Amino acid sequence: MAVSSAAELVRVSLYRHLAETGSSLSAAELAELLDMSESDVLAAMAELAQAHHLVLDGAEVVLAHPFATRSFRFSVMGPRTLWWGGCAWDAFAIPNLVPDAPSVLVATTCPACGTPHAWTVTNEGPPDGDQVAHFLVPTSKIWPDAAHACQNQQIFCSEACVEDWLARTGNDRGYVMSLTTLWNLAAHWYEGRLDTPYERREPVLAADYFRSVGLSGPFWGP
Ligand SMILES: [Zn+2]
Ligand SMILES: [Zn+2]
Repeated sequence: MAVSSAAELVRVSLYRHLAETGSSLSAAELAELLDMSESDVLAAMAELAQAHHLVLDGAEVVLAHPFATRSFRFSVMGPRTLWWGGCAWDAFAIPNLVPDAPSVLVATTCPACGTPHAWTVTNEGPPDGDQVAHFLVPTSKIWPDAAHACQNQQIFCSEACVEDWLARTGNDRGYVMSLTTLWNLAAHWYEGRLDTPYERREPVLAADYFRSVGLSGPFWGP
């Protein structure tokens, strides 16, 4: 689904600012930067949220995947910039997306036991580590509440910690993958997002991409 040219201009400006600085722009700052009225910027942001390019809280950007503007429990430290990664998938995507950050330090804690974990994640290949990622929400259900889906794409010490967390939170098991599969999933998913124009890859239509990184079955398709 293509968005209006005003929305695309707001989108790429926000994305490039987030990539460069790790922080978002307000509607007033965007209006100033792009020489638009604030109400036109707000309308463009609403259009972008509708088309799943942004997750908003009022007029504030919460997620412009893979970037977040608050903690989703992943920090991503590049050579010059510190980002909030939107989730495990997003954190591993940032070094693959941002040309100036080919190698970053991703850090989080295990949601089950609190053990801290950190990896050097690059755009060249998966990091070492025997931790596992657990995704709770099937791809066809990520939207409309993508913040909830991201909140529940986490990295755990082990399968045992995933099981503990599921029991404690009363959630059903989603999908568990190795860090290698997580990296392969993240490597090209957001490709092109800092360019313009950009066509979103809809999770629900992305079965081929998921299959190419070894992910298939009902969790990964309609
Ligand atoms: Zn995410
Ligand atoms: Zn743990």
